Amino acid sequence: MTAPAYDEIATHEDLVVWSRDYCKEVRREWLVDVRFDLVEWEVSTRAKRRAAAVKRPKIPEAEVGSPVDWETVEAAGGRRADGRPFPATLSLTWDAFEAFERTEWESTLRHELIHLEQYQRCGTTDHGPEFKARAEELDTEVHCETFSDPKYVLRCESCDALVAHRYRDCKLVRRADEYRSSCCESPLVVE
Ligand SMILES: [Zn+2]
Ligand SMILES: [Zn+2]
Repeated sequence: MTAPAYDEIATHEDLVVWSRDYCKEVRREWLVDVRFDLVEWEVSTRAKRRAAAVKRPKIPEAEVGSPVDWETVEAAGGRRADGRPFPATLSLTWDAFEAFERTEWESTLRHELIHLEQYQRCGTTDHGPEFKARAEELDTEVHCETFSDPKYVLRCESCDALVAHRYRDCKLVRRADEYRSSCCESPLVVE
């Protein structure tokens, strides 16, 4: 699947494909040392604050700054005979994507790439001095990006039922009175 245009991202799959493409571009341009064949992707609709997160197995005695010899590592009940890192999962938060401007989403992905780079090299990752130096090089934040509550809540004019929430101005928000709620076939009210 080729990546959709950013403004046309409509599904979880779109978001993964677009984000993965962007990350590959960053790897080429900024020379980030990440193996994408060892990265799994998911979209979370549950995360409340964190824009994204890297999920990874806990590697005993791993330390940021000391490269790990993956061939000798035992974790998650097994060993990687081929010397490659255990796969990590990059979890993207759908609501954060909706809340953010494109530049903020891109910055979030660069932040997570640093976590992936540290993890694949050292078996663990944090927000310490090495992260800070790398974040400067990659023009991103040191702290994990967070996002806030939705800006707009749309309710059914007749029964007050919650119909939708949106993080930014969009057609649904601007022209709420042209839409009809499925509960009462009534116009929508924006709060
Ligand atoms: Zn972080
Ligand atoms: Zn209603």
